[in-house]
Amino acid sequence: MKTFISPIELTKTLLSIKSEKKTIGFVPTMGSLHEGHLELVKKAKQQNDVVIISVFVNPLQFGAGEDYNEYPRSIERDRSLAEQAGVDLFFEPTEDLMYPEKLNTSIVVESGTNVLCGKSRPGHFDGVATVVMKLFQIVQPDRSYFGLKDAQQVAVIKNMVKDFHMPVSIVACDIVREADGLALSSRNIRLSENERYQAPALYKALQYGAELLSKSCRSPEDISRMVYSHVSERIEAKIDYIDILSFPALSRSINEEDDIILAGAVHFKKARLIDNILVPAEIRQKRKLGI
Ligand code: AMP
Repeated sequence: MKTFISPIELTKTLLSIKSEKKTIGFVPTMGSLHEGHLELVKKAKQQNDVVIISVFVNPLQFGAGEDYNEYPRSIERDRSLAEQAGVDLFFEPTEDLMYPEKLNTSIVVESGTNVLCGKSRPGHFDGVATVVMKLFQIVQPDRSYFGLKDAQQVAVIKNMVKDFHMPVSIVACDIVREADGLALSSRNIRLSENERYQAPALYKALQYGAELLSKSCRSPEDISRMVYSHVSERIEAKIDYIDILSFPALSRSINEEDDIILAGAVHFKKARLIDNILVPAEIRQKRKLGI
């Protein structure tokens, strides 16, 4: 595995790889790698000749008072996990190299951000889209891999790629979970023992909601309220949101043929956790018909 800090050096190497007609799969991350990230790498290896991972904690996507300084960092461990997973190129740029001066141009996400994490983290997705745009310019991948754990991020990035005619396929990958259902997250290590014990209740509540969405005739608003109570009775944390929207449009007006996302976010003392379940339209219809 080759390691790069400089964007220019990386671009040069990648251009020479591309000239050999090899395909490039790219996994952007903020590090503190876990099995969720490594699943993206695995998928990228299956579909591409060369796999590159980036580790960059992007200051632009953290708001004032958020956990940029406390975000877990473990670059040496990350390098070794990436190497074991068969990553070819490891990109760990410094903040100075990514943002050498104040940006003259940045991406502003125009839709899909007035709900879920976008609503409670103003500017977050502008920061995500801007850094992903920069990384895509540096790497110029054929395919890039994102986890559905951050489903709103997947929607935002797919829209950006479409809006700007970017020649990259966005591959959305399933959520990897602990045995008790907790979605893997770099932030999980910031949970206290008691919080870690409570945390899987978020997914359990979403499962309960997904079941209701498939089988009952209750409205999304009713189901959101029921899931909210389920969470609040089991977790001593501030609930940021529980919401049900169409996916990927992230709209509150949901048609029969729309896929649905049921998503939640909770603030524990030192970690904000998010999770979601996608309920495809066909599952809802099949279950309603008793198939
Ligand atoms: P992060 O380092 O948290 O920015 O995540 C980098 C990428 O890994 C994003 O596309 C995430 O959605 C994805 N990811 C993080 N956790 C998981 C998980 N538990 N399962 C699948 N993908 C994940």
